[in-house]
Amino acid sequence: MIEKYVRPCVLNCRDYVPGKPVEEVQRELGLTDVYKMASNENPLGVSPKAMEAMQNELNKANRYPESLCTDLVNCLAEKHGVSQDCIMVGNGLDNVITLLGMTFLTEDSEIIYGDITFPAYGNIARKMGAKCVEVPLTDKMELDLDAMAAAITDKTKMIFICNPNNPTGTVVSHNAFAAFIQKVPEHIIIVSDEAYFEFADNPGFGSMMDMLPQRDTLVVLRTFSKVYGLAALRVGYAVSSPELIRYVLKLREPFPVNRIAQAGAIAALNDKEFEEKTLKLNKAGRDYFMSAFEEMGLKYYDSQTNFIYVEIDKNAQEVFQRMLQDGVIVRPQSFPGHPDALRISFGLEEENEITLKSLKKVLGE
Ligand SMILES: *Cc1c(COP(=O)(O)O)cnc(C)c1O
Repeated sequence: MIEKYVRPCVLNCRDYVPGKPVEEVQRELGLTDVYKMASNENPLGVSPKAMEAMQNELNKANRYPESLCTDLVNCLAEKHGVSQDCIMVGNGLDNVITLLGMTFLTEDSEIIYGDITFPAYGNIARKMGAKCVEVPLTDKMELDLDAMAAAITDKTKMIFICNPNNPTGTVVSHNAFAAFIQKVPEHIIIVSDEAYFEFADNPGFGSMMDMLPQRDTLVVLRTFSKVYGLAALRVGYAVSSPELIRYVLKLREPFPVNRIAQAGAIAALNDKEFEEKTLKLNKAGRDYFMSAFEEMGLKYYDSQTNFIYVEIDKNAQEVFQRMLQDGVIVRPQSFPGHPDALRISFGLEEENEITLKSLKKVLGE
């Protein structure tokens, strides 16, 4: 009955399927030891400095937070060497991506992104009734920038480049991205989603931050959910031209980022020790899985992130369910035209070992 009153594009929207929470697995399977290797979170927990800052902020929870996250924006402006009006902070990067889509997409526009990539880009396009143009990856599971440039039409409004790409973990080089930008008409918004920027160590990789002065319609995205270990707090931000940021900010809710999150993010930014420890652990996890998959003869892709994409010759959903019995939560990946795969986030040493053991067992069954 209600269906006919709903905006038609809402009917096309997909429900987001999040990584299975630890609590849910404990409840459903009656397990106590559960290892979440599914959502690319920081396995080291919360930075002790962020923890302290957040605790100190709790007793101000009766007061609304700053709407524009001014202190945090000042820190970020300094970090990136840009002026404050080039930055907007949102309730997680998901929120920033949604606002970007709301600012620019209409029912007669098109957006371009990779097949496969982070689902948020297609989700906001569908919510706005825009057309999704999905461009297949190369055989190395990298975004195919030439094919993406060739997919541009008069209707193209936005292009999302997830770099490093989620869920494949691969990168496009700074040179290739810079050359791509030259080919894209100035009015098209190019979004460089750099959620995993800190983890990438491929020498050809580089942030698009340095290209911002050349193009008002370039947007760089970063988040506090991954290396900074604050996924539950929901803080992410965009850096772009002051004009673009001004329009996107018009669509924000009055208080998008809560006070605890703002305080935690500022402290996390300044905790270099925690960041370094995270990156070191991450590299160990990456080496561990890559050499194990090499040995097992599994096809995987070079990870420039805190997770790895590995193809399996069994049904991903079934392998996921079987591993759950061992208390290991991974992310099954089955996409049309792609072999089944798992996306596994790197954890603590022990968690990595338990995950590999479970995977070996399940694949050998
Ligand atoms: C995790 C992730 C995000 C979302 O980050 P939040 O700040 O937690 O909303 C955005 N883009 C990519 C590619 C991600 O993997």
